[in-house]
Amino acid sequence: MADKAFLVDTTKCTGCKACQTACKQWNNLPSDEISSFPHEYTSPEKLSAITFNHVIITGIESADSSIPILQMMHKKCFHCEIANCITVCPAEAIYKNNYWVIIDQEKCIGCDECVRACVYNVPHLANKDYNEYGTGGFIDKDKAYKCHACTVKAREIPACVSACPSDALTFDFRLKIVAIAKKRLKIIKKNFPDACIYGLEEFGGMHVITILKDIPEKFGLPTNPRPIKPTEKRDGKEYYGFLSGLSFGMPSVKRALYKLSKYLAS
Ligand code: SF4
Ligand code: SF4
Ligand code: SF4
Repeated sequence: MADKAFLVDTTKCTGCKACQTACKQWNNLPSDEISSFPHEYTSPEKLSAITFNHVIITGIESADSSIPILQMMHKKCFHCEIANCITVCPAEAIYKNNYWVIIDQEKCIGCDECVRACVYNVPHLANKDYNEYGTGGFIDKDKAYKCHACTVKAREIPACVSACPSDALTFDFRLKIVAIAKKRLKIIKKNFPDACIYGLEEFGGMHVITILKDIPEKFGLPTNPRPIKPTEKRDGKEYYGFLSGLSFGMPSVKRALYKLSKYLAS
């Protein structure tokens, strides 16, 4: 089956957050509790276990003057081909559904390894249950959550893409998405010489391709990020392989056994 992918053209994004809202609506996710506004337009502050898609609005200098112009960035799981989160998970709770990276909360033991291994800070552990919001127990405390590319509650075109009114989000075959991105980059480079495409090569090629007006670092994206090798020693993972059989299937016991495994490995 030919790979599908998202295109995020941040140069077309108007910051309306229709995608952010549509994701909440489709996945029946509650609002984040906001204590302060980090930026007058960016809210909530970051991705969380109940926010899978985040529009970040910042100011950058324009190429030909000192007048700041608003710059958008979209943050959600990049669905890496070589995914650090899958490599490090000791409970085999993260898997590929075709090319999409999915977390199975039934298997998740809340160990935090994927949270720390993802260089983009995408997965988050829920700090409480959200049953009271009528999500039917969809969000459980101490389980990891992130964008599932609308495959868990499936639809043909992801909700965030359907909602975008400015053509900043596209969903299609990856080959087609890459061709569109390269064509668009040529146009953008005339005014923004440092514009680039992120996700073509990073982590083996991502399934979310992003067009940026400037170098990736300006958007908090590392160049040449390092995939964790499956053979790399992970503290505790080996011990946990033996100890997990003693958990009687209880997530809290599994988490405790994982902590013990890390202690034994240290
Ligand atoms: S962006 Fe992070 S959470 Fe998403 S697949 Fe890559 S490593 Fe995993
Ligand atoms: S928090 Fe859950 S999904 Fe993440 S690495 Fe641990 S067990 Fe795996
Ligand atoms: S693909 Fe679906 S789950 Fe992922 S950010 Fe878009 S709406 Fe949310």
